[in-house]
Amino acid sequence: MAYVISDKCVACGKCDEVCPVEAISKGEKKYTINPETCVNCGQCVDECPSEAIAEV
Ligand code: SF4
Repeated sequence: MAYVISDKCVACGKCDEVCPVEAISKGEKKYTINPETCVNCGQCVDECPSEAIAEV
């Protein structure tokens, strides 16, 4: 279980700033979350202005 960033991502980078384990990295068009590193804290979800982050 981990959080995933959808295509609604506008690459603002706010999630990257709050992630305590640096699981989020910038891709070409959107940010992605490394499921191996993510600890499911949910902090990025609250930060995202596009509601692009959801748990899967
Ligand atoms: Fe980082 Fe927490 Fe978001 Fe996982 S849920 S990517 S640990 S901020």
